[in-house]
Amino acid sequence: MTPPTALTIAGSDSGGGAGIQADLRTFFAHGVHGLVALTAVTVQNSLGVQGFTEIPADVVTAQIKAVASDMGVNAAKTGMLATAEIIRAVAKTLDEVEAGPLVVDPVAASMTGHALLREDALEAIRTELFPRATLITPNLDEVGLLTGISVSDAASQRSAAEALLEFGSQWVLVKGGHMQGTAECVDLLSDGREFISLSGPRYETENTHGGGDTMASAITSSLAKGASVPDAVAAGKKFIERCVAEAYPLGAGVGPVSPFWVLD
Ligand code: PLP
Repeated sequence: MTPPTALTIAGSDSGGGAGIQADLRTFFAHGVHGLVALTAVTVQNSLGVQGFTEIPADVVTAQIKAVASDMGVNAAKTGMLATAEIIRAVAKTLDEVEAGPLVVDPVAASMTGHALLREDALEAIRTELFPRATLITPNLDEVGLLTGISVSDAASQRSAAEALLEFGSQWVLVKGGHMQGTAECVDLLSDGREFISLSGPRYETENTHGGGDTMASAITSSLAKGASVPDAVAAGKKFIERCVAEAYPLGAGVGPVSPFWVLD
């Protein structure tokens, strides 16, 4: 039996915890065949990102077309896109191929504060990619960069969701994981009509590298299998909670979240 397919358009993490490596292991954990359009090669370990080189935009386009024309894409996600030129190329190519629902994780920087996006590229994410997205999944740092809103409570989280939907995506998930001083991790999912608050436990761990990528690719996996956005997000939240609970130390810095529990 051929499994569903999901395409990740994202960067490589040499440390194996984020980027396409996180996406592929998450797709695998969901029984989904992972396809890849590589956008950048990062040099990084648990201590941080030392630098990156982007892939030429026409090569990113060619990878997407190659897999979409032959293998079929049931759902797609974008992660690190590195430059405005790559973002524009990805947006145009996704208009030309069948790639199913699109999850845009607006990756701007690593949790260690290193830029993963050239400076002029944030505007291209807002104007070129968000209008094509089924769902966008910013964390609170990315919400701040994209809207200027500093989320500190439920009211400002809702305002941020409304402001982000103005950019044209069908749904937005404002992830509350980075909110200070809350016992629970509350994410807000909205399409402008429904506002669905998803609450889960906050685990004490230093090792959260790759958490955003893993959640977005878990959601993409469920969409590839035909789930609705609210069901895919609810399942993605359960998946990432377990991955954070079972995160492991690796290297002297921040270790990765772990999907290995699916093997139990
Ligand atoms: N490296 C790559 C290639 C990524 O795509 C990401 C996040 O999307 C990161 C690093 C940063 O991961 P984190 O902020 O979880 O450390």
